[in-house]
Amino acid sequence: MSEQYQAYQIGKNDEGQRCVLTQLDDSDLMEGDVTIRVDYTTINYKDGLALTGRSPVIRKFPLTPGIDFSGRVIDSSHADFKAGDEVILNGFGVGEGHSGGFAQKARVSGDWLVHVPQGLNTRQAMAIGTAGYTAMLSVMALESHGVKPGDGDVLVTGASGGVGSVAVAILSKLGYRVVATTGRMNEKDFLTGLGAADVIDRAGFAERARPLAKELWAAAIDVAGGNTLANVLSQLKYGGAAAICGLAESMNLPTSVAPFILRGISMYGIDSVMAPIAKRKMAWQRLASDLDLTMLDELSFDLDFNELPQAAEDILDGKIRGRAVVKVP
Ligand code: NDP
Repeated sequence: MSEQYQAYQIGKNDEGQRCVLTQLDDSDLMEGDVTIRVDYTTINYKDGLALTGRSPVIRKFPLTPGIDFSGRVIDSSHADFKAGDEVILNGFGVGEGHSGGFAQKARVSGDWLVHVPQGLNTRQAMAIGTAGYTAMLSVMALESHGVKPGDGDVLVTGASGGVGSVAVAILSKLGYRVVATTGRMNEKDFLTGLGAADVIDRAGFAERARPLAKELWAAAIDVAGGNTLANVLSQLKYGGAAAICGLAESMNLPTSVAPFILRGISMYGIDSVMAPIAKRKMAWQRLASDLDLTMLDELSFDLDFNELPQAAEDILDGKIRGRAVVKVP
C-alpha cells in the first residue's frame, strides 16, 4: 500500500528553482533496492547551494535535496542489507541527481550505503555527516603521506565550519598539535575546546601569496581554496602535505610551482562523493574510534526540520558553527 511522507522538494520553472515542504507518496521514491526510514539528516555547504539555487547543484527536477542521512532499512532486496539495519548514506550524487535526505523516506542503491559502525548511533552519524567524514578522509590522506604528530604543527582552515571543526577534533585526539584558522575569533574558546593548540585569524591568509614564505606547517587541511590555500602551500615545511577538500573562499588557486619544486610539498585532493565503498567503511570505522564522542556533543547542535531553508542561507554566509543535526519528524 502506498504511504504518504513529508519531504522537501525542489522544482524548477521559467522563473527559476523553488524549494517547498510537501507531501509525497511511495510512487515518488526514486529507483533503488533499499528503502529507508530517515532518522536524521544535516545541512552541508552543498545543501546550502542546492536549496538556495546559488550554484547549479541540482541536476534533476523535481528532486528532494539532502546529500546525507542516517536511518533504518524498511525494505531491501540488496544482499548486504535487511529490514531494521541502521545505515548511513552520503554522496554518490544523492541530493544532486537522486532524491536525498530531506524527507521521511528515501530509496537508494544498497551499493551506496554503509552500516552505522559499532560505537555510533544514527544521531551521532549525522552529527558527523559528510563534513566529518570528509575531515576523516583528509586525515587519512595526510597519514598515508606519512605525516606524524612529531613532525610539527598541522593547520586547519575554516575551523569553525563543519569539516574544519571535526578535523580539529580528530587531529588533536590523534596527538597532533593543531593550529586552527578562523574568520570568527570570537569562536576561539570553542576551537580550543575541540583541541586546537592555537587559533589564528584567517585575515592573515587573505592577501595574494608569495611563492615561498616561512615554513610553518608540517601539514594542512584546507576547506577554503583561493588565496588562503595558496598561502598555506607557501608556508608548508619541506616535504609537507595539504589535503584539499573545499572552496569556501574560492574555486581558484593563485599559486606557483615554487613550493612544489623547491620544497617537495604535495597536495591531496579529497572527494567524498564518489569515494569507493571500502574507503568509506574505513573512514566511518575510524570516526567511531578516533573521534572523542564528547567532542561531537560540543561541535553539534539540533536544528528543526522546518529550519532547513534558513540554515541553507546561514551555512553559505559562514554563520553555522560546527555541525547541525536535523531529526526528521
Ligand atoms: P561550512 O560552511 O560549515 O564551513 C566552511 C568554513 O569556511 C566557514 O565556516 C568559515 O570558517 C570558512 N570560510 C567561509 N568563507 C571563507 C572565506 N571567504 N575565506 C576563508 N574561509 C572561509 O562548510 P563545510 O565545512 O561543510 O564545507 C567546507 C568546504 O568543503 C565547502 O567548500 C564544501 O563544499 C567542501 N566540501 C567538500 C567535500 C568534498 O568531498 N571534497 C565534502 C564536504 C564539503 P571560519 O568562520 O572558521 O573561518
